Amino acid sequence: MAATTVYKEPAPLLDRENPLESMMSRFNVATEILGLDEETYEVLKAPDKQVIVHIPVTMDNGKVRVFEGYRVIHNTILGPSKGGIRYDKNVHLDEVKALAAWMTWKCAVVDLPYGGAKGGIICEPATMSAGEIERLTRGYTLAMKDVFGPDRDIPAPDMGTGPREMAWLMDEFSKTVGATSPAVVTGKPLVMGGSLGRTEATGRGVMVATLAALKKLGLDPTQVSAAVQGFGNVGTWAAKLLSEQGVRIKCISDISGAYWNEAGINIDEAVAYKNAHKGRLDGFTGAVLMENADDLLTTNVDVLVPAAVEDVITEHNAHEIKAKLIVEGANGPTSASADPIINEKGIMVVPDILANSGGVTVSYFEWVQNRQGFKWTEEMVTERADRIMTDAFEKVYATSQKYNVPMRIAAYVVAIDKVAQTYKFRGGF
Ligand code: GLU
Repeated sequence: MAATTVYKEPAPLLDRENPLESMMSRFNVATEILGLDEETYEVLKAPDKQVIVHIPVTMDNGKVRVFEGYRVIHNTILGPSKGGIRYDKNVHLDEVKALAAWMTWKCAVVDLPYGGAKGGIICEPATMSAGEIERLTRGYTLAMKDVFGPDRDIPAPDMGTGPREMAWLMDEFSKTVGATSPAVVTGKPLVMGGSLGRTEATGRGVMVATLAALKKLGLDPTQVSAAVQGFGNVGTWAAKLLSEQGVRIKCISDISGAYWNEAGINIDEAVAYKNAHKGRLDGFTGAVLMENADDLLTTNVDVLVPAAVEDVITEHNAHEIKAKLIVEGANGPTSASADPIINEKGIMVVPDILANSGGVTVSYFEWVQNRQGFKWTEEMVTERADRIMTDAFEKVYATSQKYNVPMRIAAYVVAIDKVAQTYKFRGGF
């Protein structure tokens, strides 16, 4: 019999700025601008529900390891909750709570009929076999079978997860309900109900938002340079699509470091290199390895696209940023402590809840197609997603002008206003 060890994962310490505090400080500013009533404020301040599960997984060595997983449902007044699942060793409940609230605001900004949620499992997928990750995903799905559902809570990929995990999740959920249920999860492989355009959707939205912002700044995309932090799904697609628009991508980075080329990096070459080298850029010769990867953030470019993790722009480096425009591909890349410095410098920020909303928008299209039992063409997907992004950008921009506030606060104002108005109509406290 296999030996059983109850593996106790040490609780990760949040030795970085707390994303929940960053989210709340912007939320507080926006609710004040809106004059939000106290009752609605109290309702929106805390998540509706937090589920913590412990998932036993038989590892390849025969031992059982128990993983801690979360699903936080922030709010469902606009519709079933929506949001990705993160597999990472640094997953922390406070981070998942912030990410869940950001999903509520994100869906509201782009006017989707969804609430917000987020999930996470403390694990290190890079050190696990496919079989171990599959058993973990199935165990998590079973543990969450009463949480997930096409009309309740619809997960999707996030850091450390992708179509493969979504396929396992869909399969496991379908078995528990006794019927194939594609609409329970988005970001699935194309053959089993995924949507055309979903893979590139977040990066494409970043590109569309960047072009809209450059127009407001009176800058020609073919005359500007950019640095993209992170070369995962969002970063690669943002870099590729921006370079196709003529933007010179001078700097990219991944876990192996930051790479610089003054003349512009050939993104297709970088992507091909990454795919041929276990998903990493180590040894990429189309650019020079920078001494310090963090210098990417303060390098001399017009546009900065943080597309990796939270809290990379802080009060410690914000004053050194040279970009005129920051477009947040990641969730929460700028901590609240950096906001006043960035505003003081007159840098325009397209905030995460707007800039990276292209992903959940096409997730919504995937869910609609699954429910229709009908497949849209790629043109339908991109045309509709681009229009949603452009409309949302204009609405947030107009709100920032109206209240004379930065785009970030304006995005929160638009989102919270929609949620608060819905509460007023639905009533029922
Ligand atoms: N994880 C992505 C996000 O943070 C996508 C969520 C979804 O498609 O539901 O926006």
